[in-house]
Amino acid sequence: MTRILVVEDETHLAEGLKFNLEAEGYDVDVAEDGESALERLDGAHGFDAVVLDVMLPGISGFEVVADLRARGEFVPVLMLTARARPEDVLHGFESGADDYLPKPFELAILEARLRGLLRRREWSRGETAAPKPVSVVEFDGRTIDFDSMELRSGDKRTQLTTMEADLLRYLIEREGRV
Ligand code: CA
Repeated sequence: MTRILVVEDETHLAEGLKFNLEAEGYDVDVAEDGESALERLDGAHGFDAVVLDVMLPGISGFEVVADLRARGEFVPVLMLTARARPEDVLHGFESGADDYLPKPFELAILEARLRGLLRRREWSRGETAAPKPVSVVEFDGRTIDFDSMELRSGDKRTQLTTMEADLLRYLIEREGRV
């Protein structure tokens, strides 16, 4: 089940989000301030995304996301900014937020943004799980090194262009096909 952490000190808003996101099939936890959010997001926390309000008692949402990124935690973060103030939005992105939504927002928009973040997370997971492409191929006494883009034949070394390397890789990966 997809787990979301909602960080919001306004109880009615936090509970409303929790209720609606749970209705969408998410597992939702609420943190009421930045410090407790950071505690819950420590180590193997299991959250798939965070909805993070900027205006919080104690440390702000900006500080929460900056702290997360500083410790190498890249859980997707959707920031809720008080107004669509450009400086808030820029500050949010600079702190490491993945997306933002100005308050007040339409619930459907928040859910769509959240789905977008979760989808991108899935894609990047898929990419890291994919096998690494071969970097060295030998055939007929020749060696192609795709990392250095070199063709070696005996003592002879030929530097390949990006186009040549791409074309060779394309052909090698489709060996035997017309
Ligand atoms: Ca707030």
